[in-house]
Amino acid sequence: VELTDLVREHVREIPDFPAPGVLFRDITPLLADGPAFGALVRGLADKYRGHVDAVAGLESRGFILAAPLALELGVGMITVRKAGRLPGPVVGVDYALEYGTARMELRPDTVTEGQRVLIIDDVLATGGTGAAAVQLVERSGGEVVALAMLLELAALSGRTKLDGHRVDSVLIY
Ligand code: 5GP
Repeated sequence: VELTDLVREHVREIPDFPAPGVLFRDITPLLADGPAFGALVRGLADKYRGHVDAVAGLESRGFILAAPLALELGVGMITVRKAGRLPGPVVGVDYALEYGTARMELRPDTVTEGQRVLIIDDVLATGGTGAAAVQLVERSGGEVVALAMLLELAALSGRTKLDGHRVDSVLIY
């Protein structure tokens, strides 16, 4: 099965979550299906094997994807976390959300100089989270090989915030 079909068939749309007017894409059916989850992780690993030295997962759903992918690739996992979760020293990036701001943090000592890092998350929406992760990895000495996303919500133009970086989305809406 194509990865694109796999994702399309196992993602659920939830209207008005977490707020009225928002159509939330829920990946829990994909995670709950053992063969589908396994095929997804192996399919992603086949794409990047030999080209990455670490996988950086974005809290929280990116962690679920990054850990098995890193194991399958035989490399380590880097955690890019929401503000205040990592013990210091950390580097941080603040970015704008639709309402308010958010902050992502990374311990620079979890990245080695020149390390080829694959960033992964479940959904690319406005691109703020991905762009923050790129900055954190680069500031820590890493080289971002690509950003891998299960779903890309094209109407929100997240890709434009990631200019100059390879963005691989399994399924684009
Ligand atoms: P961005 O910073 O690109 O606007 O938002 C991306 C972050 O919000 C990701 O970490 C992603 O998990 C989460 N996100 C935004 N919209 C959705 C959605 O519809 N479904 C899921 N599962 N996550 C979303």
